[in-house]
Formats: sequence, structure tokens, C-alpha cells
Amino acid sequence: MLIVYFILAALAVLLLLVLIAVIKTISTPARKSAWRPASDPERERIYAAKLSEMVKVETVSYHGIDQREKFLGFHKVLEELFPLVHAKLEKTEIDGNLLFCWKGKSGERPVVLMSHQDVVPAEGEWLHGPFSGDIADGKVWGRGSGDIKCDVMGFFQAVEELLADGYVPEQDVYLSSSCTEEVGGDGCTKLVEELKRRNVRPYLVCDEGGAIVESPLKGIEGYYAMVGILEKGMGDLKLSARSHGGHSSYPSRNSPIARLSKFVYDFERHDPMKLEFGPEVREMFKSISAYGPFHYRLLFGNLWLFGPLLKKILPSISPEAAALLRTTVAFTMQSGSEASNVLPQEATLTINLRYIPHQGPEESNAVIAKLAAKHDIDVEVLRAYGAMPPVNTDSDAFHLVERVIGEVFPGLPVCPYVMTGGTDARFYQEICDACIRFAPVAYREDQMKGMHGINENIDCSSLTGAVDFYKAIIKNNT
Ligand SMILES: [Zn+2]
Repeated sequence: MLIVYFILAALAVLLLLVLIAVIKTISTPARKSAWRPASDPERERIYAAKLSEMVKVETVSYHGIDQREKFLGFHKVLEELFPLVHAKLEKTEIDGNLLFCWKGKSGERPVVLMSHQDVVPAEGEWLHGPFSGDIADGKVWGRGSGDIKCDVMGFFQAVEELLADGYVPEQDVYLSSSCTEEVGGDGCTKLVEELKRRNVRPYLVCDEGGAIVESPLKGIEGYYAMVGILEKGMGDLKLSARSHGGHSSYPSRNSPIARLSKFVYDFERHDPMKLEFGPEVREMFKSISAYGPFHYRLLFGNLWLFGPLLKKILPSISPEAAALLRTTVAFTMQSGSEASNVLPQEATLTINLRYIPHQGPEESNAVIAKLAAKHDIDVEVLRAYGAMPPVNTDSDAFHLVERVIGEVFPGLPVCPYVMTGGTDARFYQEICDACIRFAPVAYREDQMKGMHGINENIDCSSLTGAVDFYKAIIKNNT
């Protein structure tokens, strides 16, 4: 009898808490994003033409291949498009990676504006050739137009225009662009090493990552500045299962491939990685859900109550949401024997992990190793680094970015954003506390799919905001 009272009391408390959350949500009306892209045909024409020339140069990067010559060709195009930048700034080129220094009145609070020059390969049938740089239907088309030559054009053009006005920045400005971002190469490291050699400690680094995104979550309308404040870590593990091999005409059970398969099956049946709403993820959901329909505001605006429930249901609804809550494991490469009639002496499986702060490389790899041991599988760590320290959203550097977004894109909500992918900015974390991942370029929903996919394009109207953003960052960093 006592237990029945206890259950009823617990239910009553729960109901009361839900009621409090509902009342709280009803009494806080939904917010609305007020910013819409505006057109400025004259400037768009100039910027689109420049971006088009940049897209026409094929700058696909491949892992482990030295392609300096190709990138030097791209630099020639930059030189033609941005003559003042090349005449007035100090240029350093290291293996195809670029660094420009614009001396300001002070070197105390230098700012680094950066994005990569390289692009991923273009496959499939495109409406406009991937390296055509066609300007049609108010867009620039081609590989790199969205990821991320639009942004490179933005900061080069910003400096070009300020130089034309005779402007001298209060603080030093660096333009940084690696040619190995898409292959996770070390191009950016070389630029950071160079800055370390010069004792430069940036006050703010602005890289790609987040952007101005239309409808970042289903049901949330309008545009949002998704400002990347945290980047997950990454690792590759190689799993090997061994046997004595033999002829395929009399196979035994539990061959290496069977053991690896059982491992994958076990993992997928019950993902053992810890689910948690980290502080940055909470901040992100809290700020974005304020613009959503009632159920978003109720659930994500009251994570103190609904967090445990959401942890249970989110992973089965959305892999993107699951990636924000735990270390992810992707099975990406496999090998067996060399012939169809030979049992493998060794079969391997390579897995790619993206580490969450609450379960870093050491702990996540140990979870994998434990499950692998159950199936007599060896684990080798090929590489592993943890999540980058988050940007403090109460810092002056973050407030500067917030202020500039408000100035250049009036009415555009700023939402802290947790990145599940990686960018070059992580290399700068060693010398800078405020590495912000935000390209000030507006992407519509369909344009997000074009990046790394087919028919990549960007609206010409998105380019003016990028130029204005970088000008404002330079001018406001006093
Ligand atoms: Zn990119």
C-alpha cells in the first residue's frame, strides 16, 4: 500500500513540474528571426565575378600529395583580383598555404581572418560544370562557391576596399588560408608555427564552420547566425582480427570477418557511448528553441525537466542530434583476404570517432577496446585528439562578433553552435582562446546539401554581407 502512495506522490510532483514548464513556456512568447537577405545589385555583380574566377581554378586537395604548383596558380588569380592586398600587405607562402599581415597601429590584439582554399572532388552530373564558375539565376555555381571560397573572397575584398579608402587598422590583421583543410592536412599548422615564431597571439580568430543558416532545425523558420563555439575531437582506430587463414572450401566458424561483423552488430544494437547534454549543447538548444514552435520551446527550453527523456528519444530520431550528445563511431574502411577463395589471416576495420568533451579519446577508446576484446579483436590507435576548449560566450572577443553580426545583419539571432565536424581553426587553439567558427555567408536549406555534394552554389546576395562583416570586425577591433 505504501508503495502505491509513493508512486502517486511521485506522479503528482512530476505533473506539477510539467505544469510549471508549460506555464513558463506559454508566458514566454516565441521569438522571430527578423533578418532577410537584401539585394545590392551593383556590389553583387563585382563580388560574384571575383568569386566566379576563384571557382574556375580547380583546387581539389588530395591526401599526401604535394600540390603546391596548383595552389600557386590559384594565388596568381588572387593577386589579379585583389591587387591592393598584394601590394600593401606582407605575404608569406608556405607549401601553398597563405598568410598575409596587415600592420595596424598596434599589435596587441591581432585578429586572424581565415578560410581554406582547397575544395573536395566533384563527382556526378552537375547543372553547371563544377569548375565553370557560372553566374546564373542570381547565384555563383561550382565546387567551392559555398565551401568556402565565398568566405575567402569576403575577407580579401574587405581588406581590398579598406585599403582603397586609405584605412589603417587599429590592430594588426592577418589573412590565413590553408590548402589542406579538406583532407585534414597540416597546412594550417605551418601557418600557426610561423605566427608562433613571430610571437603573435591572436585576440580573435574567425574561421568557417558555422554560418548564417536558413531553418537550422525542422520547424524553425528564418535565418540564424550559427556561431561555432566548440568543435568535437577526432580519432581513427584500426581493428584487426586474426586467424590461420586456409582454404575457403572448408571454412571454420568465427573467421576474422565474422568476428568483426559481430563487433559491429553488438555496437549498433546498443551504442555504449555516454549520452549527455554538455553545457554548450544546452546553450545551443536553449537559444535556438526560443524561435521554434511550442513543443520545441517546451522541451528544449526546459532541459532541466525533459533532458533525460530527450536523451532517450533524440538518438533514434536524428543522427545529427545524437552526434551532439555523444562520441560517435563510424565504420569506414574494411579489408580481408586478397582472393575470393582464401580465408583471411587478418581482416581489418577502420573506425572514425568524433569525441565529445564528456567522453574524451582515452575513455571512448577504452570502451571500443573492451568490446573488441570480447570478440578477440586487437585495437590500434592511428590518431586521436580530444574536443577543443570551447569559446567563452561571455568573453569580449565573442561579444565583438555578436555586436558586429547585429550591426551588419540587423535582426539576425545569434546562436552558439556546437560543431560535429572539424575545421582548420583547431590548429589556432594553441595560440588563441577565441577561435570562432562562423562564415558570415547566408545559406538556404538546399545550398547546405550542395557543399561536398552536387550543384554547389551560393546566392550573389550572400556575398555583400560577408564583405561588410569582415570590414566591421576590423573596424570594431580597436
Ligand atoms: Zn570548408
